[in-house]
Amino acid sequence: MSFQTSTHSTAVQSGRIRVLKEGSKLSDGNVGPVVYWMLRDQRSKDNWALIHAVDQANKTNVPVAVAFNLFDQFLGAKARQLGFMLKGLRQLHGDLEQNLRIPFFLFQGEAIETIPSFIKECNASLLVTDFSPLREIKRFKEEICKRVSDEVSIHEVDSHNIVPVWEASPKLEYSAKTIRGKITKLLPQYLIDFPELAPPLVKWPAMNPLIEWEDIITRVIREGAEVPEVDWCEPGECAAMEVLMGSGNGFLTKRLKSYSADRNNPLKPKALSGLSPYLHFGQIAAQRCAIEAKKVRNICPQAVDTFLEELIVRRELADNFCFYQPHYDSLEGAWEWARKTLKDHASDKREHTYTREQLEKAQTADPLWNASQLDMVHNGKMHGFMRMYWAKKILEWTSGPEEGLAIAIYLNDKYEIDGRDPNGYVGCMWSICGLHDQGWKERPIFGKIRYMNYAGCKRKFDVDGYITYVKRLVGDNIKKRKAGILMMSGKHKEIRV
Ligand SMILES: Cc1cc2nc3c(=O)[nH]c(=O)nc-3n(C[C@H](O)[C@H](O)[C@H](O)COP(=O)(O)OP(=O)(O)OC[C@H]3O[C@@H](n4cnc5c(N)ncnc54)[C@H](O)[C@@H]3O)c2cc1C
Repeated sequence: MSFQTSTHSTAVQSGRIRVLKEGSKLSDGNVGPVVYWMLRDQRSKDNWALIHAVDQANKTNVPVAVAFNLFDQFLGAKARQLGFMLKGLRQLHGDLEQNLRIPFFLFQGEAIETIPSFIKECNASLLVTDFSPLREIKRFKEEICKRVSDEVSIHEVDSHNIVPVWEASPKLEYSAKTIRGKITKLLPQYLIDFPELAPPLVKWPAMNPLIEWEDIITRVIREGAEVPEVDWCEPGECAAMEVLMGSGNGFLTKRLKSYSADRNNPLKPKALSGLSPYLHFGQIAAQRCAIEAKKVRNICPQAVDTFLEELIVRRELADNFCFYQPHYDSLEGAWEWARKTLKDHASDKREHTYTREQLEKAQTADPLWNASQLDMVHNGKMHGFMRMYWAKKILEWTSGPEEGLAIAIYLNDKYEIDGRDPNGYVGCMWSICGLHDQGWKERPIFGKIRYMNYAGCKRKFDVDGYITYVKRLVGDNIKKRKAGILMMSGKHKEIRV
């Protein structure tokens, strides 16, 4: 399908909006409400999709509501990810109603049924959604376009990328080098401050029924208990801003200097921003992070430049890949040279091979790899440097690149709090299939894919120190779980284990 960017007059730049479906009602003067189906931009502030929804509602003198669909199953998300998301949404619900007087509707089940049925029920004329390049979301939107009546328009707003993915490039990009200039050229146009959002002019006729958040969260956490929540990462927009620029230990306020010096040292996880869970669930806008980072560039230019490279170029390159490459999570999506070299070496002899279960249980002969796996299983966020080593070793120890890639994605999506993200698919594809990388000296198993080994890690950081650090972390975690206490939001909360 090819889409036009919007020609409707709006407070949001037209290049940020794609018209997925042009309904007849808007032009007939018989206009119904606006519904914003929120997907991956789960925030009330700094959200272009919400700004567009309110703007369109004000222009046509109709009310606006936010709808969210909780899927029965979404790419295997468990208590860790769903608990974080739902607690963030509970706060968002309060913020929307209290600060913006916008109602929030939570549906459960299949979005292709709940969203069209809500549109019909409230007689909406316009559905606004935010953007995700993942195939499941694309499919839901295509189906919803078919299921709503001809009178309904559907607008998709890229609220996640600073430069909208379709504006940054019209095609699949080869590497950071090929997309960097294109994004940089458009930053003056798109990296602008957000307008202040005021309550919509027209109120929604009746408030929605109460959402039984406690019951929903308790059930979802019970059903996904195989991967329990983590206690180091408080959910929600306020917590996200605190991590970015809080006076206690904010990234830009307190930790920026160590970003250039220590960001590749897994023993210093605090040198990284720690923003990925918030960015993944859209509890903070990358654009807000970039605006605030630029303000402190004079204090630490190198750290800010490196951070912006990751936050903008690398992150938006990942969206470019998933948007334009339908096989973004399989060997088929790799470039020809990488597929060839991996196939040439697929049957090379392996010193060790492990099953998915052995890998999941961290039962390999490599204590460093086991530590990184346990770090992910127990802590829910493996250090960025270790993620590369971890994935490359899976290639080395499995029957071939297809199996290795599938296992890496399975584990990444199951345990990482920021998993099921374009960055995750691209991270695994980079490590195992040489995506966005160049060819290197040919060697067994890896072929021309960049290689990493234990000795290399030893030269870079204190490997034994990292192993000890993870052992302690796992021990503490097990003790906490045994005690049945999880620290949430600064207070102790009983959970069943
Ligand atoms: C095998 C593998 C799997 C990965 N899985 C995920 C995943 O599931 N989810 C995820 O968000 N990231 C993933 N990454 C990318 C990266 O490791 C994480 O984004 C980063 O470690 C998150 O920590 P941070 O926010 O503290 O990082 P920071 O260094 O502070 O980075 C700030 C932000 O920039 C972006 N970013 C940083 N590094 C990258 C990168 N290499 N590619 C794209 N964007 C980047 C992220 O949005 C990140 O939150 C993966 C990388 C690899 C090699």
